[in-house]
Amino acid sequence: LADRLEGAWKKLRGQDKISESNVQEALREVRRALLEADANLQVVKDFVAEVQKQALGAEVIAGVNPGQQFIKIVYDELVSVMGDTNVPLAHADVAPTIVLMAGLQGTGKTTATAKLALHLRKQERSAMLVATDVYRPAAIDQLVTLGKQIGVPVFEMGSDADPVEIARQGVEQAKADGIDTVIIDTAGRLQIDQAMMAELARIKQTVQPHEVLLVVDAMTGQEAANLTRTFHEEIGITGAILTKMDGDTRGGAALSVRRISGQPIKFIGVGEKVEALQPFYPDRMASRILGMGDVLTLVEKAQEEVDLADAEKLQEKILTAKFDFADFLKQTRLMKNMGSLAGIVKLIPGMGGKISDEQLQQGEAQLKRVEAMINSMTPEERREPELLSGSPSRRRRIAKGSGYSLDDVSKLVKDFQKMRSLMQQMGQGGLPGMGMPGLG
Ligand code: GDP
Ligand code: MG
Repeated sequence: LADRLEGAWKKLRGQDKISESNVQEALREVRRALLEADANLQVVKDFVAEVQKQALGAEVIAGVNPGQQFIKIVYDELVSVMGDTNVPLAHADVAPTIVLMAGLQGTGKTTATAKLALHLRKQERSAMLVATDVYRPAAIDQLVTLGKQIGVPVFEMGSDADPVEIARQGVEQAKADGIDTVIIDTAGRLQIDQAMMAELARIKQTVQPHEVLLVVDAMTGQEAANLTRTFHEEIGITGAILTKMDGDTRGGAALSVRRISGQPIKFIGVGEKVEALQPFYPDRMASRILGMGDVLTLVEKAQEEVDLADAEKLQEKILTAKFDFADFLKQTRLMKNMGSLAGIVKLIPGMGGKISDEQLQQGEAQLKRVEAMINSMTPEERREPELLSGSPSRRRRIAKGSGYSLDDVSKLVKDFQKMRSLMQQMGQGGLPGMGMPGLG
């Protein structure tokens, strides 16, 4: 998608607004790329509609081209849809925290159960595993083996016991042993079936878990959406684990799971080993869905160009003596983005050593005064400083509005005009921030 977005970005370049017509093509690319990443069709439609709304409503930042703005909107919206931040596993006030694992067979439930226990142990949280999959012959053994491997106790009652009863007694045992978190592994079917759902519902009813984690195979693709909907409607999930993210899947399933259940993805599985579990981070997943890392660079580049474009425009204005109070305000804002005034002044050749901290503080205070006065000017006055040099009544109004004296305002206007002609003489090569009124 990054390539495509860059293409769309180039096309949007040179256009001075994000408009209905020029955004359509870019949106089509986003839609196509998300579908390729296996996100669900309806989810993609909703997502694209939201991006469109935001893109068209976005205030155009001066000097930023719409393509750059568009990329940032897509990325930010993707991060936001996936929940913005990582949501950790629940931790009950009174131990044990009870976690119920749910999902189809083969998705990685049993593996994830062990992975989660190891993850908790690393956080000094003790864990116990409960084996309720009595249907597949080797399922209990598999969990027992994994438990041994990571040094975590496994509760099991053989394959003749009732899964609900195993879960209930497992939790009792965990309580008695003072275990921090008990994780209940459950049986899955290859396809959703009513008996499986009913059993899961009964286990949930009986043990009242703090977490019900749906384990979803990231390779499931389109089906992840239906799967999530069914499990969420019938059981009610509190989160999800997306497994097999070590494959070449883009992870569009993440978008579907979050959007459809409204519940956070908490972890991703990235391999068969018990260590291969990572917390889920929406921003990382957004860049993966948009094409591995590249998009981050694009977003950063966009941000840089925003700053550069502004700086270039200012310089042009300076050279043609069109620099006005509005530009000045923008310039100071740019400088603030770049760091503190002190930092900037130190960068100016021949100045760094000569300016004391006290002088710098005075400079910053002066800058605030100047900003206050400019803020009291009308847009027209900001554009044409001459209006002010010719009109004492305008200057008086500004003085009143900003809380400074008429002398202060008159001096600002005079300094500004002096600075402007100086800047023009100096020509190119001026750093933004040079020749500030009141700092000379
Ligand atoms: P369950 O039926 O849901 O309990 O699934 P299992 O835990 O038994 O896992 C099914 C298969 O998927 C096993 O071969 C696991 O090794 C494999 N598996 C589980 N999680 C991952 C993962 O994150 N990455 C990869 N590559 N394989 C995984
Ligand atoms: Mg299993």
